[in-house]
Amino acid sequence: MRDLIIIGSGPAGYTAAIYAARADLKPVVITSSVEMGGDLMKTTEVDNFPGFPEGVMGPELMMNMQAQAERFGAELIFDDAVSVELEGPVKKVTLGNGDVLEARAVILSTGSEYRRLGLDDEARLSGFGVSWCATCDGAFFRKRTVAVVGGGDSAMEEATFLTRFADKVYLLHRSDNFRASPAMLSRAKADAKIEFVTGVTVTGIQGTDAVSGITLTETDGSTRELAIDGLFVAIGADPRTALFADTVTLTEAGTVAVDGRSSRTNLAGVFAAGDVIDPTYRQAITAAGSGAVAALDAQHYLESAH
Ligand SMILES: Cc1cc2nc3c(=O)[nH]c(=O)nc-3n(C[C@H](O)[C@H](O)[C@H](O)COP(=O)(O)OP(=O)(O)OC[C@H]3O[C@@H](n4cnc5c(N)ncnc54)[C@H](O)[C@@H]3O)c2cc1C
Repeated sequence: MRDLIIIGSGPAGYTAAIYAARADLKPVVITSSVEMGGDLMKTTEVDNFPGFPEGVMGPELMMNMQAQAERFGAELIFDDAVSVELEGPVKKVTLGNGDVLEARAVILSTGSEYRRLGLDDEARLSGFGVSWCATCDGAFFRKRTVAVVGGGDSAMEEATFLTRFADKVYLLHRSDNFRASPAMLSRAKADAKIEFVTGVTVTGIQGTDAVSGITLTETDGSTRELAIDGLFVAIGADPRTALFADTVTLTEAGTVAVDGRSSRTNLAGVFAAGDVIDPTYRQAITAAGSGAVAALDAQHYLESAH
């Protein structure tokens, strides 16, 4: 039987694999069949991951993490985990090809999915003006015009943060009712660079190589175009927990519940790391840090279980 299975190959999974492999746990990483490397495979320049003064392309960063994990002996399986049995001392993970892997410990690092608007050109222009992260991409929009879609705290935070760079920030929301806390809402409303546009839905994105504008549809069905350079989508994120939500305890936010600052879930020998436990920060570096925590927790668990 194996010591450790890691499900997911984003910064959390690969960092856990590097630490676990260096501790001689011979981890196996189930990478996903089509999305190996995680969310950063979907982006272009990553400017905020330490160690890359000139920035690094997302896919290059993830290929480097993969190579580093493999260098220490982590085994990669390019398949999906389709079902799991996580209770009891022997954990079982069934793969898409029908194989069943067994291990004494499992790290869940399946990430989370930013909610999308569901528009035709959204995926094509992702990384070319369409973004889900102002912290990551805001600095690319210095002296430009951008729009943020959403009505919650994260939309207010993104809009306020973007005023550091952009000359103009539109805050677009489908109604006049905001989920955002009164304090966050008033801070955004008081900012002279932010213009609230309510009662609108974004129904189209224009741009050949990069975003040049969007179509807004009003509640009466009329449409108009708005010229912008960047569109930040801040309508929430869904942790990817469907695989294990029936046995692993989740928080109200839908993330995996962990014990304090550790990665321990409600099940002995099951650890979780990265965006799947994080309702707040959702950054590559925080995911990587939490992957290291999970590997160390798994190592201590396996040592004490001997
Ligand atoms: C377009 C975009 C740009 C971004 N830019 C930046 C940036 O510039 N800087 C920054 O710090 N952050 C950025 N982020 C956020 C960053 O990518 C995430 O915070 C980070 O990738 C989270 O790492 P993770 O390992 O927790 O999850 P993920 O990277 O989401 O990886 C999870 C992996 O698990 C896999 N998986 C899920 N379920 C299964 C299963 N059943 N079986 C096998 N595999 C499974 C997924 O397919 C995925 O490969 C960006 C995100 C996006 C979407």
